[in-house]
Amino acid sequence: MSLEEYKGVFIFAQQVDNELSSIALELLGKAKSLAEDLDEKKVTAVLLGSDVKGLVDKLAEYGADRVIVVDDPALKDYRTEPYTHALASVIDEFKPEILLVGATAIGRDLGPRVSSRVHTGLTADCTSLDIGDFPLEPSPVRETKHKQLLMTRPAFGGNTIATIACPDFRPQMATVRPGVMQKIDPIKGAKAEVVEFNPGFEENDCYTEILKIVKEASSVADIQAAKILVSGGRGVGSAENFKILDDLAEALGGTVSCSRAVVDSGWKPKDLQVGQTGKTVRPQLYFAIGISGAIQHVAGMEESDIIIAINKDENAPIFDVADYGVVGDLNKIVPALTKKIKEALA
Ligand code: FAD
Repeated sequence: MSLEEYKGVFIFAQQVDNELSSIALELLGKAKSLAEDLDEKKVTAVLLGSDVKGLVDKLAEYGADRVIVVDDPALKDYRTEPYTHALASVIDEFKPEILLVGATAIGRDLGPRVSSRVHTGLTADCTSLDIGDFPLEPSPVRETKHKQLLMTRPAFGGNTIATIACPDFRPQMATVRPGVMQKIDPIKGAKAEVVEFNPGFEENDCYTEILKIVKEASSVADIQAAKILVSGGRGVGSAENFKILDDLAEALGGTVSCSRAVVDSGWKPKDLQVGQTGKTVRPQLYFAIGISGAIQHVAGMEESDIIIAINKDENAPIFDVADYGVVGDLNKIVPALTKKIKEALA
């Protein structure tokens, strides 16, 4: 493998039912800044599906300079084998230096398959990506590889953060947690160069047959889309007592979320959990109420614009990341705050 042949930053533009997933746009935002650091001019999105060309303009508006489209009926619904074949063939043909995939259910299936097929490494579930120098092990002289993709992710149960590089193989592949990277503000009317490519598909023993698709009916709010989150922890005390957080969220037009301790106690569903094993959120305003601020929780909310913590323990670590802190009993503070907000908005 000649590493120099591999050029450009590519993202896998995930779509489901011909609708782009938010992660595709988030990856484009990150790809743009990585491309700048590499002095690359183009960001390329790889769009796989059936009848999906209508999605190209949206990708362009969110930062794709070029879109490689593999449009084939075999790609209508996600299936491991045809998607792996398509993406691996795109890599063989276009030789990207970097390929980013969302750490969604689809991406977690597709990414490792593809990396194995094209014989490169993959860092899963990254929370940060940068371009930088990577020192190789000394023997006999310490050599440094420049302009490598430095892929950072929690390791050992979230107790440490590991930065991983892939200096000897290409492309450098990462799956990236949804909600971590920022989309750019869309550039209305932007257009991308479109390259159609089809490696050919043959239904065979490896192709699963989809008999029926059953969609999960969820009545739970999408906490990653919320601008205001009122998040409760074990300190709230019971499922019933979440009523005071519901009231605050309603007064502010926000959404309730929670820590893992709350999910483990059966007070709230897992879909509302913020943190390393929950969701990564980036609201404009995040209330952490009765939440201690464990590293695994903070990993999922520290990028919020403004963090307000309410906790009776003045030494709780949540105050280290909070912009505003209130020390006291949440059972008194939260209803009083809700009352004041309602009065102010009346
Ligand atoms: P606690 O740590 O028990 O804190 C409760 C807080 O409430 C305390 O600070 C207390 O002072 C305060 N309090 C109590 N009563 C009141 C009151 N009346 N008024 C005001 N304050 C009060 N956690 C997550 O949240 N998300 C994750 O995704 C996640 N993933 C994990 C992954 C791994 C591998 C591991 C090992 C752990 C993970 N955890 C996660 C768990 C995490 O380590 C903590 O255990 C958890 O976040 C604690 O939740 P908490 O802050 O609600 O509860």
